[in-house]
Amino acid sequence: MPPQPESAYSSARVRREFIEHFTRKDHREVPSGPVFPQDDPTLLFTNAGMNQFKDVFLGTGTRDYVRAVDTQKCIRASGKHNDLEDVGRDSYHHTFFEMLGNWSFGDYFKEEAIVWAWELLTGVWKLPKDRLWVTVFGGDAEDGTGPDEEAERIWRERTDIDPAHVLRCDKADNFWEMGATGPCGPCSEIHIDRGGPGSDPADGADPAIGVNAGNERFIELWNLVFMEFKRQEDGKLVELAVKSIDTGMGFERILAVLQGQNSNYDTDLFAPIFARITELTGERYGGGDEETDVAFRVCADHVRAVSVAVADGALPSNEGRGYVLRRLIRRASRFGRQRLGVEEPFLHALVPTVAEILGEAFPELRQRVEHVQLIVKSEEESFRKTLDRGLGLFEKVAERVAGEHSDVIPGESAFELYATYGFPRDLVELMARERGMSVDEQGWDAAEAAHRAVSKSEGMFKQALSADELTGLQPTISTYHEADERNHELETEVLLLAEGGDTEDGRRSVRIVLRESPFYAESGGQVGDTGVIEAADGSLTLPVTDTQRMGGIVIHTADLGGAGPDALAALGPGARVRARVDTDRRDRTRRHHTATHLLHKALRVVLGDHVAQQGSYVGPDRLRFDFSQPKGVTQAELERVEAIVSERVFANAPVVTTIEDLDEARARGVVAMFGEKYDQRVRVLDVGGWSIELCGGTHVGAAGDIGPFVILSERAISAGVRRIEAVTGRAAVDEIQRQRRILRAAAQGLKTAPDELPARIDQLQKQLKAARKEQRASAGADLAASFQKVKAGLADRGGTLTGVLDCPELDAKTLREMGERLKSLSPDLAVAVFGRDGDRVPFLIVCQGAAQAKGLRAGALAKGIAGLLGGGGGGRPDLAQGQGTKPEAIPAALECVERELALALDG
Ligand code: ATP
Ligand code: MG
Repeated sequence: MPPQPESAYSSARVRREFIEHFTRKDHREVPSGPVFPQDDPTLLFTNAGMNQFKDVFLGTGTRDYVRAVDTQKCIRASGKHNDLEDVGRDSYHHTFFEMLGNWSFGDYFKEEAIVWAWELLTGVWKLPKDRLWVTVFGGDAEDGTGPDEEAERIWRERTDIDPAHVLRCDKADNFWEMGATGPCGPCSEIHIDRGGPGSDPADGADPAIGVNAGNERFIELWNLVFMEFKRQEDGKLVELAVKSIDTGMGFERILAVLQGQNSNYDTDLFAPIFARITELTGERYGGGDEETDVAFRVCADHVRAVSVAVADGALPSNEGRGYVLRRLIRRASRFGRQRLGVEEPFLHALVPTVAEILGEAFPELRQRVEHVQLIVKSEEESFRKTLDRGLGLFEKVAERVAGEHSDVIPGESAFELYATYGFPRDLVELMARERGMSVDEQGWDAAEAAHRAVSKSEGMFKQALSADELTGLQPTISTYHEADERNHELETEVLLLAEGGDTEDGRRSVRIVLRESPFYAESGGQVGDTGVIEAADGSLTLPVTDTQRMGGIVIHTADLGGAGPDALAALGPGARVRARVDTDRRDRTRRHHTATHLLHKALRVVLGDHVAQQGSYVGPDRLRFDFSQPKGVTQAELERVEAIVSERVFANAPVVTTIEDLDEARARGVVAMFGEKYDQRVRVLDVGGWSIELCGGTHVGAAGDIGPFVILSERAISAGVRRIEAVTGRAAVDEIQRQRRILRAAAQGLKTAPDELPARIDQLQKQLKAARKEQRASAGADLAASFQKVKAGLADRGGTLTGVLDCPELDAKTLREMGERLKSLSPDLAVAVFGRDGDRVPFLIVCQGAAQAKGLRAGALAKGIAGLLGGGGGGRPDLAQGQGTKPEAIPAALECVERELALALDG
């Protein structure tokens, strides 16, 4: 590549020029969707620009525009698209990257997509044409699809690419499919030959081989997908009536090309992160040590991915996307520790740099820097504790394996690193590879299966409706927001009735899709409505136990109960039915929903504006609100929050909903959820001008409808995230009554009135304290008396004070306390005292001065005595204690000590 002046193409400029190229061609600029989809359980992370438009391609959703352009935050570190292994090793795969895309929904097709892409690359950005190569779909016998001659012709006739640079590739590279079923089509990729330094000359001889061969010389820049088929469940392709365009260009890759660099990491997206790593570690990138460079790339890449995901609301955990994040942090920590020599957590210190670089395109990153840092740091800290031990264990295992002249780490040992020390599997495999070893895969799988309790992982989710069931379904007309009774009851037509499998308690269920529905489908934390769907002629009534949504299609799960296949015929497609929501449950739920908004606002008032929603549950029974907050919340703060919410309830302001333009709403400061994907037209929920949030849920008419609001609990659920649970309305009254019952019972137990309880408890505690003191005093008096008695029993033996005494009234504690007093009686001393504690025989031995000089040792004596008394004992030469279990052996013990004293002192 002819190098460009470094400053000419900044990342901001390239992003902007891509967007402008297409807005000039009437594309609507749309914001990136969140980096993980909120309402698509089949995907842990957004892995392509098309994810946010999936419903449009499936036909379950619509947009009010037919052309769009954006840059989409993507993560490919799990599932079908997983580039994790390559990251750090090559220069052009990341876990997190931006995908620039332009879209046509049933509007323009192949010709415009190709011509406009070429225009941008060679006209606007002036890339050398002789370095560009494109591929088109070469056809597939099994699918009965021919080569994409149309695309080929457009490239050759409508652009000035060298015709020899248009290659045909097979299905694996040039036929794009969203999943096993659904929309799909041929694609055309644009590759660049970077030649020059760093390229692999072996691949250069024949571009037809070099392209798509996974080398550093030819890299794919842009993929243009022509969505023209749908794959059915039987595997057959059918042509779509509405054809679409979906393109994706790797932003970091085009940026490197435009900045004249051979590596994405040498662009302004990464250089400041590297500089910061150098500051923190003293190591240098590009200094000649490949492993150090890999560590730099891994740390910079992973910290970007983690920052973006946590800013959007994800948290490290042991399952699903949280586990992917945990794995990324651990992988980077371990590289930092082993390759860059950093002992302390350091990834969190890179977060502000990441936010600085990406903050202009994704402002949520700048707003949440502190939260992200806190999460990353605490995750690093907890991993560091186990890292050393895990590394030690691995070394031991690897040495043993090497000693056995093998190069395979047993699966079980490798799995222990995962199960006990939290080492991700790929990390263990990587560590093995670094030593020229491998991990026994089958052994690992077996160990894992045995251990299996861990988590639901990707791929276990089931789509609510299959691609075939979706065919021809229109988005449901939802009426729960309407002003009249249709918001909870209406008559409509069944569009689909399908087997639903067994419910959790083993009953049979069906899934029903209606033309119109008053049921609210679970979303935004609010549970789905329940109620009934009944045949209009009254012949059959089915209870609806849950309502879910797939795109714009509302799916009701109904309990079949005893209804047989015949009865069900009354609810088949075309049947007229009445759909009725359980309004009592809906009422209880919406009280909690509006209260959640008030709680959110009150928390911001009391704790500060850093409080942001991290998750919520809104049900008929209670509300649960998770929020970012670095430190604990005091009882006084909680009471203030409760009081503020209550004031707002008493003020009884009407709850007003308006439909607004998203950008305008944001501009006037309406609170939006981080990581939530909103349509351009949004519902804004306003409670008295005080709490204003975007929300599609169901709410009360005026704040007063909420009734009493009571916080049940507040606690940390992970570093930086706390959870409040609260109840309203009837549930709050129940809670208040429950607490009063407890108070009354306590008061009765203490024979006082509830109001007097604190004073009564105080009084009782004082009494208890006084009683304890008295007891201690009398014990002290006892000790003094016992001591006098023991003292009286001692006798002088050639200048040494001695005695062997049996004192059944002394317990172990008194004996212990007597030791020091005895020692102060005389510098030359040899005394043994035996006490009683129930069946036990505690004893004390003191030897000092002349006694020790003559060979007596308290510790040794105690051991011998303990043997006689059937117990244990020992201590220092001057002071020892013990306890026996055989009181009947006391005379023998006394005699034994007596003999020892005589032997030493009288001899
Ligand atoms: P590759 O073969 O290079 O892995 P891909 O075929 O997986 O690419 P697509 O799924 O077609 O890529 O994605 C569209 C574009 O996104 C690619 O042309 C590429 O520029 C970019 N891209 C894909 N994966 C990554 C990644 N892991 N890191 C950075 N950019 C990527
Ligand atoms: Mg790929």
